[in-house]
Amino acid sequence: MHAIILSVGDELVLGQTVDTNSAWLSQQLAAVGCDTFAHITVGDDQQMIQRAIARSAWRCDVLLVTGGIGPTEDDLTRQALAAVMGVELELNQQWLAELDQFFKNRGRVMPERNRIQAMIPRGAKLIFNTAGTAAGIEALLSLPQEGGRESCRVFIMPGVPKEMKIMFERDVLPFIKQSGGGACILSKTLHTFGLGESAVAEKLGDLMKRDRNPLVGTTVAGGIVSLRVNSRFSSREQTQSELDRAVKSCYDVLGDLIYGENDRSLAEVINEWLKLKNETVTIAESCTGGLLAKMLTDVPGSSDIFQTGFVTYSNDAKYNRLGVSTEMINIYGAVSEPVVEAMSKNALRLAKADYALAVSGVAGPGGGSATKPVGMACIALAWKDGVTLRTFNFPGDREMVRDRAAKMALSMLRYHLLKKPMPF
Ligand code: AMP
Ligand code: MG
Repeated sequence: MHAIILSVGDELVLGQTVDTNSAWLSQQLAAVGCDTFAHITVGDDQQMIQRAIARSAWRCDVLLVTGGIGPTEDDLTRQALAAVMGVELELNQQWLAELDQFFKNRGRVMPERNRIQAMIPRGAKLIFNTAGTAAGIEALLSLPQEGGRESCRVFIMPGVPKEMKIMFERDVLPFIKQSGGGACILSKTLHTFGLGESAVAEKLGDLMKRDRNPLVGTTVAGGIVSLRVNSRFSSREQTQSELDRAVKSCYDVLGDLIYGENDRSLAEVINEWLKLKNETVTIAESCTGGLLAKMLTDVPGSSDIFQTGFVTYSNDAKYNRLGVSTEMINIYGAVSEPVVEAMSKNALRLAKADYALAVSGVAGPGGGSATKPVGMACIALAWKDGVTLRTFNFPGDREMVRDRAAKMALSMLRYHLLKKPMPF
C-alpha cells in the first residue's frame, strides 16, 4: 500500500510553521508497512489544493490531507475536494448538532461561520472529531490515469497536530491496517563519528545497494554519519532476523567506527564505559568553552564519572587555574600541543580524575593565521601513565568547529578505552 501526504496551510509554505504532521504520519504509516511516496505542501489556495489532490489521487492508494478544514475564509480543503469530486458540499445535520452543542457547552452561540465545518462533499463520509470542531472527511476518489490507480481513498484531517493524531489513530489507521499495509518494517540506526559520509559509504560498498532489503542508507548531522537500516518483510520474525543480519554485516565492515545505536550519543557511551570501570574524567577547555563538559553532563547520572572541570579561555586563566606557564604559551601559542598537554596533565592532577581531556583551537571566524588557520584544534588526553596529543583541522563555522572538537575529544577517550588506535 502506498500513500501520499498533502499538507495545507500558508503558514507551512511561508516557513512559519514546520510541517510536523507529515513526518509523524509517515512514521505511523511505515510502522504498518505502508510506504509514503511523497510529501506535498501547498498554501491556502483552492486551485493549488485541487491540483495537488487530482495529481496525487491516481498515484497512490491512500491520500492523507491535513489542514484547511477550519471555519475561516482561508480554510478551503473541503471546497477543493468537492470540486475535484465534481459534487456540491452538503450540510451534515448530525455534525451541525454536535457543533451547536460544542458551543452551548461553553456558554456560547455557534458563530455562523462555523456552519461550514458541517459541510462535506456529497457522497463523502464525515469523520467525527472528538478534540475540536473540525470534522474530518473520508472519500473514495476515482480519477484513473494510465499506469495509475483506479481509485484512491482520501482522508482529510485537521491541521492541529493533536486533533490530527487522535483522528488518524482512531479512524484512519484501522483502514490502512485492514487494507493490508501488510508488511512489517523494522529499522535500526547505527552512528559513526570521525569519517565522512563518502568514506563510510565506500566501506559499506554493496551493503548500500538501493535494491537490497534490508536497505542501508546514510544521513549526516553534526558530523555524525548514521546508517539507517530498514528491513521490510511480510512476517515480523523474518523482518527482525533480516534486520539483525544486515546490522551485523554493517558491524563486520565498520567495527568500532560504530559507537552507538538509535538515539545514543558519544557522551552516553563514554558515561557508560567509565561507570563500568568506576573511573572519572575531567576537562580543560579553551575554544570549546564548556561544550565538552556540557556533553558529558547532558547524560543523567553523569556525576558518577564527572566531578569538576576547567574552562580556561584566556591565557591568564590557563596559568592561574591550571598552572600552564606563560612562557610556554608565549613560545608555542595557546593553540599548540605542548599547551594542551600541560592543560590535560595539570587538570588530571588537580581534579584527581582518571582521564583528562584538553582542547584548544581556533574556532573563528577571526583569529586564524597561515600556520594556525580557523578550524585548527589541538586535543590532549591524559591519564595516569601517559598522554596522547593530536592536532585536527575541522571544517565549517565557529559552531561546527567547537562541536567537532568536543566530539573528537570524546572519540579520543573512547578509542583509548577500547585500547585501539583512532582510525582517523
Ligand atoms: P488548520 O487546520 O489549517 O486551520 O490548521 C490549524 C493549525 O494547525 C495551524 O495554525 C498550524 O499551527 C497547525 N498546523 C497545520 N498544519 C500543520 C502541519 N502540517 N504541521 C504542523 N502543524 C500544522
Ligand atoms: Mg490552515
